[in-house]
Amino acid sequence: MANPVTLFCFREDKTLSNALGVFILTTIFYTFGASLRLVDELSLFWPLNGIMAGVFARHAFLNKPLYYAICYVAMLAWDAVTTSWGVASLAINLSNLIFIVTVAMLVLRDKSRQPQLPQAMFALRLFGYCLIAALLCALCGAVGSVGIDKRQLMPLYADWFSEQFSTGVLLVPWVLTLSWPRVRHLPAKDDLWPLLAVIVSLGVSVLVGGAGSLVFPLIGLIWCALRYSFSTSAFITFCTGATEIVLVAYGVIDMNAVSPLGTNQMFSTRLGIATLAICPLIVGASVAALNAVMRQVSRRADYDHLTGVYSRSGLYEALSQRPRAPSSLCVLLIDIDYFKSINDNYGHECGDAALANFGERLLALVGMNGMVARMGGEEFVVIRSGIAFSEGLRFAEMLRTTLAAEPFHWQGQQLHLTVSIGMGFDEAPVTAMRETFDMLMREADSFLYQSKRAGRNRTSCRAHGEAQQSGEAIQTDR
Ligand code: GH3
Ligand code: MG
Ligand code: MG
Repeated sequence: MANPVTLFCFREDKTLSNALGVFILTTIFYTFGASLRLVDELSLFWPLNGIMAGVFARHAFLNKPLYYAICYVAMLAWDAVTTSWGVASLAINLSNLIFIVTVAMLVLRDKSRQPQLPQAMFALRLFGYCLIAALLCALCGAVGSVGIDKRQLMPLYADWFSEQFSTGVLLVPWVLTLSWPRVRHLPAKDDLWPLLAVIVSLGVSVLVGGAGSLVFPLIGLIWCALRYSFSTSAFITFCTGATEIVLVAYGVIDMNAVSPLGTNQMFSTRLGIATLAICPLIVGASVAALNAVMRQVSRRADYDHLTGVYSRSGLYEALSQRPRAPSSLCVLLIDIDYFKSINDNYGHECGDAALANFGERLLALVGMNGMVARMGGEEFVVIRSGIAFSEGLRFAEMLRTTLAAEPFHWQGQQLHLTVSIGMGFDEAPVTAMRETFDMLMREADSFLYQSKRAGRNRTSCRAHGEAQQSGEAIQTDR
């Protein structure tokens, strides 16, 4: 999820401009947060920590005491000019820094351990990182601001914690995935429905009020997540959350509202719970659809699209599912004779149809007794395990004669295809399935070459049993 592309012109080798960048960014967002000191002395919505945590986490090279110190100095400077907090400012801004450093460190540590972390898992972990950072930051912030607000420690702690946690969760994912917009075309009308749903549900929250109303935009937000890029939906989520916080603070969303139907708070609560209940179902359905697509894609890679038998990679995948050495293994490498002449004389389309028909017949003949794969071009492999040498040879001959006997029909004509087969056999393999297969493939390949050289339409293999002593090769006749 975290994208290594640098933002705000930070560069690893430019210490001075990085320092300036950290100072300016800190000042801008400090000013913005301070302008929202509406309800209490402390800010209603404090974006600085989430933004800077994201910036530091995104640029690993900024994680140096120097840049953190500059960030801290910028905060202190702002307070010195605009507030009369005095020494308390040291503790309050230290708590901001604690949040920034904790999130940045946890994210960077996570990334270096698991660079391929899936997005969903990372989002969950980010939730945890913001929680830890908010707990630590609130401790310092609450103690430091006791003098300012003349409030009790615990309510202050709760305020600090909830504010830091919520802004962190809303902002850090967005900053981590933020990229310069690349608008190639204006959004279609259909693209705007999810955003509209969020705006309408925010309006309904204002109308209905009560605790449950805060959950209303959730379905619209999930819709956005399914439809838009991660960065865009993170931004919409952040805007929605921030708007709700401001609306509640101003009393526009009335948390103690009596519903329009004159019932009690249960109206809003029930609607909110209904919204909550639908969300996991939507996510569940999306994940199920995604899994179905994944299965389809992996099936496409495992099977040859033309003939329906295993592809080469599919066969290797299937073999690696059976790690144990088989009791015996027979590998038949089957190559269609003079196949090029089919293409030359009847066209590529006919060649394709002949291959598809060949694969179908081969699959039907082997059935549940073994595996069939297309290794490339007009070359197929059949694998059988747990059979004796003589049975393997008989089976190869059955395939060869049956395939040759059944003609392939193309535009009213009968085409007879013959095959040459090279057989590899091991009656007591000691290595795992895949290694044994690789070894027997080499053997089968060299015997296939012998079948071709001897005139095609035949099976060749190394003699086993008594004949083995003489080192003879067996070759069948047409
Ligand atoms: P041999 O008896 O020595 O095996 O001769 P051959 O013509 O069968 O073998 P060669 O290796 O010379 O040619 C194989 C041909 O198979 C060449 C290629 O055009 C054709 N071929 C491979 N894959 C496909 C395919 O997917 N579709 C079609 N139509 N032809 C294919
Ligand atoms: Mg061939
Ligand atoms: Mg070939």
